[in-house]
Amino acid sequence: APVIVAIDGPSGTGKSSTSRAVAAKLGLSYLDTGAQYRAITWWMLTHDVDVRDAEAVAAAADRPEILSGTDPAEPTITVDGTDASGPIRTQEVTGAVSAVSAVPAVRTRITELQRAIAAGAPTGIVVEGRDIGTTVLPDADLKIFLTASPEARAARRGGELKGSGGRPVDLDATREALLRRDAADAGRKTSPLRKADDAVEVDTTELTLEQVIECVVTLIEE
Ligand code: C5P
Repeated sequence: APVIVAIDGPSGTGKSSTSRAVAAKLGLSYLDTGAQYRAITWWMLTHDVDVRDAEAVAAAADRPEILSGTDPAEPTITVDGTDASGPIRTQEVTGAVSAVSAVPAVRTRITELQRAIAAGAPTGIVVEGRDIGTTVLPDADLKIFLTASPEARAARRGGELKGSGGRPVDLDATREALLRRDAADAGRKTSPLRKADDAVEVDTTELTLEQVIECVVTLIEE
């Protein structure tokens, strides 16, 4: 039977790198659910929807067409047929995504997409996010919850930003923004960021990416 793996946790714990590498190693599909929330947020921002107005966001939740490519070697995301992989990583989207993700109609819409993609994965799938083990795929074969110290998370995220933007990044500001987003994600009423009771918690603070990948692969193969 296809194997379903849920990997949840806050930002900067290595979720995406780990999930992609594990999926590639084991020949599984890969789904970045954060990219889907970012995509719907980008659509709202580019279609003049006030993202602080939950009713307006809810009314528009079904309008964008969001397609995810699940090859771990080359994950893609399109919105109404347009490649959105660049625009969904901007600061504007990052700053608005928690508010949009807190709207129940948005979560219902995106959760349906996620379940359909997981059900259609021929060999199985690694799905990464915040509520995969608790809400989206509660019957997953394996649930992982990744954690790391705030310092480690900010440092990793700072490194990523520097790598893509070219200019130096203010680590304190990065840390504050990251913690604010996690607090919002953990504090919302619908499907908050939370470890599932039956998830295996892995603290990645002192681990290299290779060690985390190895750890998850071992857990899947057990
Ligand atoms: O993983 P990433 O940082 O790209 O996720 C962006 C945002 O999407 C999160 O901060 C959160 O607000 C939202 N999200 C969510 N549920 C998920 C995945 C992401 O609410 N399963």
